[in-house]
Amino acid sequence: MNFSEKIIDWYLKNKRELPWRETKDPYAIWLSEIILQQTRVVQGLDYYCRFLEAFPTIFDLAKATEEEVLKLWQGLGYYSRARNMHAAAREIVTTYGGMFPDNYSAIRSLKGVGDYTAAAISSFAFGLPYPVMDGNVIRVIARYFGIVAYCDKAEGKSQIKKALNAVFDIKHPAEFNQAIMEFGALQCIPVNPSCSTCILKENCVAFEKAMVKELPVKSSKTIIKPRYFHYLIIHDGDEIIIKQRGAGDIWQGLYEFPLIETSSETTPDEVMKHPDWKYLKGKHSWNILKIQSGVRHILSHRILHVTFYEIAGKIYRLPFGAKKIKKDNLQDYAVPVLIEKYLKQN
Ligand code: SF4
Repeated sequence: MNFSEKIIDWYLKNKRELPWRETKDPYAIWLSEIILQQTRVVQGLDYYCRFLEAFPTIFDLAKATEEEVLKLWQGLGYYSRARNMHAAAREIVTTYGGMFPDNYSAIRSLKGVGDYTAAAISSFAFGLPYPVMDGNVIRVIARYFGIVAYCDKAEGKSQIKKALNAVFDIKHPAEFNQAIMEFGALQCIPVNPSCSTCILKENCVAFEKAMVKELPVKSSKTIIKPRYFHYLIIHDGDEIIIKQRGAGDIWQGLYEFPLIETSSETTPDEVMKHPDWKYLKGKHSWNILKIQSGVRHILSHRILHVTFYEIAGKIYRLPFGAKKIKKDNLQDYAVPVLIEKYLKQN
């Protein structure tokens, strides 16, 4: 059996029963594909059924008000999907008399329909030979052919497309597309795929070369931004000041020392002139015991450049949410690893 025969055979034995797989109605298929763009099958199923019940045809959707459409979409998120579908339904009614267009380029030109959705509708509803390329398909192809180029860059995409075209089943486009997507969703999954029981393992390059974990390769899109933290460890006799971090930023709910954050690298002299420093110090005189700068702490999207200031003195005004505690009790509070490390070393 070749690739396509194997994967279609696997699909027929393993596929999940889903209502949009039982229909050739392009409107229902379109709806399912739009819902599944950003929603998991389990959650999407319910919306799919309710939407079709409320708007059984393109005419019904076109006639509906935007409020009615959005109300039904409520909870699914990414509301532009619903608005685009609504606009496209009206376009289908006015331009095509309510008949869903039956060729790829007309389908692709509908509002909110990209390459993937156009290929899916073209093949599932009209049996047209357009291979779909979603995340599941890319993973299967990159692993099976051992494609090491970045799959989210032009070169990698073109290699995947070429390889996909080489195994694509022109005579059974709908079955092939359903099969390879389902195979990626159930068998060749992102983490720990079941290679030992896989029907493709004999010719799978990633399996043969033990590269399954590494493929597909994505270019790092994560931009690591620097942040500049200055922690003031204020010793007031046997007490110290701590503050709990709020929502909407890193380390929510953890405790830290009073923090001055600057937008760029700042010298201790400049930090001591900072309004927050003045706010904390007020009229008191502070004795700077120690300054430790150059501490780096890496988080997933951030690199923190940190300076710790050990200060003996009284605090003039407690920052909002801060409190004084006995130094001995500091260990009872959850602090970020950065602070835990500092305390251990000092
Ligand atoms: S052998 Fe493993 S990596 Fe290769 S196609 Fe099968 S599940 Fe995917």
